Amino acid sequence: MIVVMKAGSTKQELDGLISKINGVGLQTHVSEGIERTIVGIIGDERNFDARKIEVLPGVERVIRVLQPFKLASREFKQEPTVITLPNGLTIGAGGIVIMAGPCAIEDQRSIIETALAVKDAGAHILRGGAYKPRTSPYTFQGLGVRGLEMLAIAREESGLPIVTEVMSPSDVGLVSEFADILQVGARNMQNFTLLHSLGKVKKPILLKRGMMCTVEEWLMAAEHIMASGNHEVILCERGIRTFETYTRNTMDLSAIPLVKQLSHLPVIADPSHATGSSALVPPMAKASIAAGADGLMIEVHLDPENALSDGAQSLKPAVFAEMMQDINIIASAVGRYLEGFPKCQAG
Ligand code: PEP
Ligand code: MN
Repeated sequence: MIVVMKAGSTKQELDGLISKINGVGLQTHVSEGIERTIVGIIGDERNFDARKIEVLPGVERVIRVLQPFKLASREFKQEPTVITLPNGLTIGAGGIVIMAGPCAIEDQRSIIETALAVKDAGAHILRGGAYKPRTSPYTFQGLGVRGLEMLAIAREESGLPIVTEVMSPSDVGLVSEFADILQVGARNMQNFTLLHSLGKVKKPILLKRGMMCTVEEWLMAAEHIMASGNHEVILCERGIRTFETYTRNTMDLSAIPLVKQLSHLPVIADPSHATGSSALVPPMAKASIAAGADGLMIEVHLDPENALSDGAQSLKPAVFAEMMQDINIIASAVGRYLEGFPKCQAG
């Protein structure tokens, strides 16, 4: 439920409302708008009588949120959530933001070189995994904390903020000391213990869609993070499993505009994991922008043939740079713009 306060309602009236809600074991989330204050009621509200709230002083009306995801829904919050990183870069504010880098951090030299190359091409955020969720226990599992240290040095050298995956609740504290954005991988989207620990972190969370999860399950996973206290969630469509075997996954392009309708959270697309094939990444990246994505996550490797993970879907820096130019053209064709790029002239 959402309680809309009257314009000009007082702090005392707001406090009275909150203590009434808390008194029946429910929590609140207060959003102070320019004209009005809106209070979200969080918790199991099945036996909660809205009429008791409607009559309180300062309350204009009570709205029931019909979606099972409440905090994440557009019903709850109309205006888009904008995430601001420490360097001032915003995600979800209109400009398109690109995260790029290798699947895994392999060594200090290559992560710095890749950071500089993607920055040169116009990328805004450096990605790289230190904790890798690999299907086989016999393949490269990532460098762990040494990888995080290398990624942090690459941030210093390039000036790009960093996004990296955290796989276990016990690593959340450590990873949040390094990362600007913490990534939840597809395989962990419903690891609720992990989601709850990320709810306590004061940094944005990039939540990938589980490869076997519906859009509703994905938004409910976001809800777990938000209900635990962290409202800075970026959703990432990275393909789902279907019967098709030519591609690694099937990119669910329609999920992008659908989730933008259902939720106020920013949505980005990862055509690298969605397709598994470098030749398919640029076309699907462009399609994602045309479909309304707020950004992209792209795997880039200096030498994809010898990459320790996901080489087949990684772009070489020169191909990535070319793709960025095309993204800029597509962005302006759909009335958007790529952060930091000159606007294209029509025609
Ligand atoms: C990744 O980003 O490297 C990754 C493992 O992605 P996903 O969780 O989408 O498979
Ligand atoms: Mn990968």
